[in-house]
Amino acid sequence: MSESEDTGKSLNFIEEIIETSIAEGNKRVHTRFPPEPNGYLHIGHAKSICLNFGMAAKYGGKCNLRFDDTNPVKEDVEYVDSIKEDIEWLGFKWDSEHYASDYFEQLYLWAEELIRKGKAYVDDQTQEQIRAGRGTVTAPGTESPWRNRSVEENLDLFRRMREGEFADGEKVLRAKIDMAHPNMLLRDPIMYRIVHTSHHRTGDKWCIYPMYDYAHGQSDSIEKITHSICTLEFDVHRPLYDWFINELNIFPSHQYEFARLNLTHTVMSKRKLLQLVTEGHVMGWDDPRMPTICGLRRRGYTPESIRAFADKVGVAKRDNIIDLGLLEFCVREDLNKRAERRMAVLDPVKVVITNYPEGKVEELSCVNNPEDETCGRRAVPFSREIYIERDDFMENPPKKYFRLSPGGEVRLRYSYLIKCNEVIKDETGKIVELRCTYDDMSLGGGSSDGRRVKGVIHWVSAPHAIEAEVRLFDRLFTIEDTAAMDPDKSFIDYMNPDSLKVTTAFVEPALGEAALGDKFQFERIGYFCVDRDSTDAKKVFNRTVTLKDSWAKAQK
Ligand code: ATP
Ligand code: MG
Repeated sequence: MSESEDTGKSLNFIEEIIETSIAEGNKRVHTRFPPEPNGYLHIGHAKSICLNFGMAAKYGGKCNLRFDDTNPVKEDVEYVDSIKEDIEWLGFKWDSEHYASDYFEQLYLWAEELIRKGKAYVDDQTQEQIRAGRGTVTAPGTESPWRNRSVEENLDLFRRMREGEFADGEKVLRAKIDMAHPNMLLRDPIMYRIVHTSHHRTGDKWCIYPMYDYAHGQSDSIEKITHSICTLEFDVHRPLYDWFINELNIFPSHQYEFARLNLTHTVMSKRKLLQLVTEGHVMGWDDPRMPTICGLRRRGYTPESIRAFADKVGVAKRDNIIDLGLLEFCVREDLNKRAERRMAVLDPVKVVITNYPEGKVEELSCVNNPEDETCGRRAVPFSREIYIERDDFMENPPKKYFRLSPGGEVRLRYSYLIKCNEVIKDETGKIVELRCTYDDMSLGGGSSDGRRVKGVIHWVSAPHAIEAEVRLFDRLFTIEDTAAMDPDKSFIDYMNPDSLKVTTAFVEPALGEAALGDKFQFERIGYFCVDRDSTDAKKVFNRTVTLKDSWAKAQK
C-alpha cells in the first residue's frame, strides 16, 4: 500500500486508482452519489456519500448528486427531499443536482442509435420466456425468435412502444450481444420495459423506462463522471457498463467497486427497512433504532461521528460486517467532547438527609463540561430530599461495593458525603426511602476528619427535579449477522423484543430549558438528546448510547 504525501496515511485502493490516473495526466476527478429515491438513506449510504464527496474534496474535484429515478413504481418526491436533507446534514454539498429522468430523451435517442447499428432489438417474448431463454451459468441461452428483426421494424416497434401502443410487458427492447456469453448479464440484457405509471418528475410523458444497466453508465457519461464508485455486487455489471459506452462511443466513465457496509444487529436493505416501517415494528423511518440517517440523527448521532465512523471503516474490496460497537464508539468519542453534563436519575429511590436543615437549599456550582471550559458552569440545587439511582444502593453488598449500603458512606457528585442509617420498605418489601446523614464539612471533596470515600454517585434534588420520559434503545435485532438468518424464518422473527424501554426519570431543573436536538451526558449513565416528541409539559430524552459498552459484557 502506498502512502499519501501530505498526510502519511495509507491510501485506500480508490485513492490509489485516482493517484495513478493523476500521475498519468488525467487530473480531473468527478464523482457522483446516485441514490434511487425509493427510501430513506441509511448508514451504508453514508459510507458511499463520505467516499464520493470525500474523494472529490481530497483531489480538488467535483461530486454530483444524481437521483437514479428510472423506476416510477417505487419512487417518490418524499424520498428526494429526505435524501437531500440527509446529505446536507452529513456536511456535504453537491456541485450539481441531476436526475436520470432528465436524460430520458438522450437515452432514448441512443437506444435508436443502437437499433440502427443492429445492436438492439424489440423482443415480443413474455418475461418468463425471456428468463427461461437466458440459460444457466453452465448452459448457454437460446436466441429469441425476434432477435433478427430488421432495423426498420425494430425502429418502428420501439417508437410505437414509446407512443403507448402496447401494454405493460408486451414488448421490451434488448441489447443484441451474445446469448452464450459466460457473463449472463450480457445475454441480450433488457434496455427498456413498458410501464404505464406516472413518474414523480416526468409525469405521463413516458411509458417506457430504461433499466438500471442502460441508464447508469450513460448518465455517468453525460455528466463526464471520471470515477463511478459503486458497491461490489455491481462488478459483474461492469462489462455491460463498458459495452454500452463503447458501442455509443461516448465519454468513457469508469466504474470501480468497493465492499458495501454491513453492520451487526441491523438490516440495511431498503425493502426490509420499509417493511419495518409499514408493518409498524418501529415508529417510522426516523425511529432512533433504525440505521437510517434520520434515525441516527433523532437518536442523537452527530454528523461528525458518522463521518469519523466512515473513515475508520475504510474502503474494503471484500464484503465484511462491522460491529455496531464501532459506530457507538465514534459517537461516544464525539459527544464526550461536546455534550454538557447533567444529572438525571432513571430509576429513582428517595433519600432523606435527616440532619440537613428542612427548607434549606444550596445552589451548587457545577462544571458543564470538564472537556471544554468554555461551556461554563450552572447551578444545581441541593436539599434535604434527593433521589438516587435504585441500583446505587445495596442492602447486602458484596465486598468492594463502593456505592451506598446500610452503614456505608458515599459521595454525592459535586456535593456532600452521606451515610445510610435506615432502610424503609413498603409492605411488599420494596425499598421506598433511605434515611441518611451528611457530613457538613465534606462539600465538594474532603471530609470532617480526613477520611476517604471511594464511591461517587449522582443524584437530583427531589423538590426541584423535573419528571421526564426517557427512552432507552437497544439493538433492533438479536443476532449479529442478519444475513445469516434461518431462511425459513422472517427477519422480523429476529427482532429484539427489548429494543425499546421507556422509563420516567427525575432530571435536574436545568434540563427544563433543553431544546429539541440538544445533547447531554447524563452523568454515569450515557449520552442523551431531546426527542421531537417533547412537549412543554414533558420532555422526552433519547438515549443515544451508554457510557460504556454494556452489550459486549452482557453477551459473555
Ligand atoms: P438497498 O440495497 O439498501 O436498497 P441500494 O443500493 O439499492 O440500497 P441506492 O439508492 O441505489 O440503494 O444506493 C445509492 C448508492 O449508495 C449506490 O452507489 C450504492 O452502491 C450505495 N450503497 C447502498 N448501500 C450501501 C452500503 N450498505 N454500503 C455502501 N454503499 C452503499
Ligand atoms: Mg440501487
